[in-house]
Parts: sequence; C-alpha cells; structure tokens
Amino acid sequence: MNVSRSICVAFILIISICFNSFATFVYAAQTGIDKININQEFGYSEAIVEKSTGITTSITYPRTDLENVDTSMLGWIKGLYEASKKELTFLRRINPRISMEFNLNYNSYLMGGRYAGIEIFGTKGISTNKNEKSIIKTYNISVDGKRILSNDEIISNKMYDDVLVLLKERIINSLGEGYSEQIEKLNGSSLDNIVLTHKGVKVILEKGVYFPESLGTLSYVIKYRDLGEAFRLPDKYFSGMSPTMPIDPNKPIIALTFDDGPGKATEQILDILEDNDARATFCVLGNRVAKNSDTVLRAFQNGNEIVGHSWDHKDLTKLNYAGIKKQLEDTNNAIFDITGIMPAFHRPPYGATNNNVKKASEELSLAMLYWSVDPYDWKTKDAQAIYDDIMGSVKNGSIILCHDIHESTGEAMEMIIPALIEQGYQLVTVSELLNYGENIVESGQLYRKAENLSLTYFPATTIYAEFIDESH
Ligand code: ZN
Repeated sequence: MNVSRSICVAFILIISICFNSFATFVYAAQTGIDKININQEFGYSEAIVEKSTGITTSITYPRTDLENVDTSMLGWIKGLYEASKKELTFLRRINPRISMEFNLNYNSYLMGGRYAGIEIFGTKGISTNKNEKSIIKTYNISVDGKRILSNDEIISNKMYDDVLVLLKERIINSLGEGYSEQIEKLNGSSLDNIVLTHKGVKVILEKGVYFPESLGTLSYVIKYRDLGEAFRLPDKYFSGMSPTMPIDPNKPIIALTFDDGPGKATEQILDILEDNDARATFCVLGNRVAKNSDTVLRAFQNGNEIVGHSWDHKDLTKLNYAGIKKQLEDTNNAIFDITGIMPAFHRPPYGATNNNVKKASEELSLAMLYWSVDPYDWKTKDAQAIYDDIMGSVKNGSIILCHDIHESTGEAMEMIIPALIEQGYQLVTVSELLNYGENIVESGQLYRKAENLSLTYFPATTIYAEFIDESH
C-alpha cells in the first residue's frame, strides 16, 4: 500500500509539473489504485481521474520517455482538457446544471522494436446533448529517432490517390454499396488519422465527419503489402507481421523453442503458430540462415524470436575462446542481416558450456538459453510420444526444447500448440517469458525456465489517482 501511495504522490507531482492547471486541484484521496493494463505494447500508462464540479474526467494516456514525443502528446491532451473546461464554464453560465463527461484512452503497437503507433480515442459528453462528441488522435513514432513521424513519412502523399482506392475498397466491403455518395467525398484529409499497427496502416475516420454519425468512428486496416510503394518505412519491420499478443497476467506463460533449423518442419510450425496467434523462439544454426532467409524473415515478422545455436553445431566447450566467440558472433551477424535485431540469447549445442562460453556470452551481450521440458523429439520421432511428454510436464514458466528439422515434430505441433492454448497457456518468446514482470535477463547467465512469475507485476501499469470530489 505504501508503495502505491508513494507512486501516487510521485504521479501527482508529475502531473502538477506537466499540467499547471492540475496543480490547483487539492490532492485529497490517499488511495492509489494500481490498475492492470495488459494491452499496451509501448511506453507505460498514466491516468487522471477527476471528479469536480460538473465534470467527470477519466484520461488514460501513454508516456514513452521520449521527450519530444511526450511533450507533444501531453500538450495535445492538456489543450483538449483545458478547452473542455472552458466550454463547460461557458455553458454553465447559461445553465448551471449542465455537466460534462470527458474520457480518453489509447492503444499502442510496437513493430520490431523500431516503430510504434499510438491511437488516442475518447468521448466528450454534455448532459444536455444526447450526442457524444468523439475524439481521435494518432501518433506514429520512430523509436530510434525518438520523434513523431509525419504522415508523409509513412505514406507518400504523392500516392494518396492509390491509397484512397484501397480505402474505398475496404469501406465498400464492410458497409456495402449504400454509401457511394460519402465514399466519393473521401480525399487526402481522410488519411489524417493513420496509425501503424501489426496488421497494417489503420485509417480512422472520425464519427460524423465523412459518414453518418450513427455509424460511429470507423476504422480500416490497409495491409502493408497492399500499400506497396506508397508505404515509405523499411518493409522488413512491417510486411506480414502478425499482431503481438498482449500477455494476460492471469494465465500461465511458456516458451516453445526449436533448435537446429531452419529445417523440414519450420514452415509448417510457422503456419500453426500463425493460425493460433502464438509465438515461439527459433534457435537457428548460423550456416543455415542465409540459405533460408525467407523462412527466417517470415518467422521474425510473425512475432517469433530468432536466436543463435552456434554456426555449425560445434560443442563450444571444445573450442578456444576466439573460436567460441567466432561461432556466436558470426551467427548473430547472420541473424541481424535478416531481422535487423541482434539476438539476446544463444543456445549452446548439447547444452555444453564452461567458463569461456559464459565469458564470450557476456562479452557479446548474450544470455544462455537452456530448457526445462525436453521431450526427446529428435530421438523418438513419434508425434504422439512428443505430445504426451510435453502435455505431461509443461507448467507456468516452462521452456520447451524441440527441433524443427524433423517432420514428426511438425506433426506433433499440430496437436500440441492448440492443446496448450486450450489449457490456458500463452505461447510467448523467450525474451517475453524471461523478462516478464520484474525479471530482467542478464548476459552470461543461464536460463532454464522463468521463475518468480508473480502476478503482482505487469509490463505496463496504469496508475489511478483520485482528486477531490468538489461536487459533494
Ligand atoms: Zn542442436
């Protein structure tokens, strides 16, 4: 409780600094409520809950710790909030009984660690008017560049006409032919509210602007690959990327890992993962990466993690220090060439390790990935036996060792992946599993499973603060 109180007080301070007008609220309630927010992929959430004369406000907004981004987003929210208060003051001069409700929330999406999309949405309602006004604002962010991208950096404005053709198609598919008059009126400004998501660029059409109010706010996703040349950001972080699954803290998490590939069963396993919105980790051999670059790229774009399993399956303990380093480094570079991401782990062949392997791992910022469930799939080559073994030994935090070079393993996964999900397991990558909650992966350390999967900690938290209720 004390912890949440001090978080709360710190939060109020932040708010007071950012929003001068908020500092005038008397902070009365000593009850800070930490609220779970499992849907956010980028930044963390802060919230303002205010009840004062005539206005009920609930604003949940993102903080990214990127100064320019936060300044701009908070500035927009502050402006909107202050304008609403002014509007209410004005309206109450005419009718003192008028009240206002003002709500904002957001979704965030993180693509390949490089780009983020944030959509802020909300409503503003006045007690004397049945129609709520809807609020929508989007931000697209270059995480490396620490800045907000302009729409033209995302979709070439010279190609707006092509994009509008795609948008109109989506609208006709969804609303039918009945709105041809409205559809005709769509223009470049219809693309003002766009946000990067895992499925594509989402175009949001504010309630009542282009289509009848009764249809509400409309949004349509145009896939990256459909945008073709109109899409100006580097393709590899976007095309075909499946949605990252938010982790539900109330359900167990496990990581499936596949060694020695890419191989015979990799594409089949990728299909199964994709069909089930699940993710896995592929521990690839460096010398197979370039030859199978399409498969590696597909695995990565579908949200799976790619880590090394040495260059050519050498027992690292039989090599000298330089030899170990070369095996790890060459493999990392091969992976980076395809994904643009340096792996955070490697899995030593045969699980063989010694002080030199540990030291080289540390030097290359790699943790060593072991396992807690081993069905001996390479030995039995029997789908039913693999299924029985995994289903019998899996538990929260497990890391499961399999090999995507055997058809029997692919066959087993046809049964195992849906069965695990059916039992409530969330299939995540090793980085997600081992960095979950308060855990942080350390280079040079060896990981067999996730521990301390406390349900108390979450990747993103919303902190609610209560302000004095002046209306009572
Ligand atoms: Zn192996």
